Amino acid sequence: MEQDIVGYHLDVEQHWVADLACGHKQHVRHDPPMVERPWVLTEAGRASRLGTRLNCKRCDEVGQAVAEAVRAACYRAAQEAFEAGGMAGPCGAGLDAIRALPLAEVMRAALQIRP
Ligand SMILES: [Zn+2]
Repeated sequence: MEQDIVGYHLDVEQHWVADLACGHKQHVRHDPPMVERPWVLTEAGRASRLGTRLNCKRCDEVGQAVAEAVRAACYRAAQEAFEAGGMAGPCGAGLDAIRALPLAEVMRAALQIRP
């Protein structure tokens, strides 16, 4: 999930780390030829990248876990409601619909700071 860079700090090994709007951190090393980020070496370069976005893998992991937990809770609640209603069994179509919820869309809606 893409998140804005809101600041920077140095880690204990003096490598630059971007502070993201979501609260997570991400290294922004300049390590050619593997990683080319010459902008990180100067204060002006870092300042020029404030507000640009990085893909935050931690948000993706957290978002996926939250979405799966919400879907499981909805499924359990629906199953209990159908059983409490005296039906012979859970409504298959309703439970299938909960299982098929598009989790990526739920994640984006829940966690995206801006589209
Ligand atoms: Zn994040």
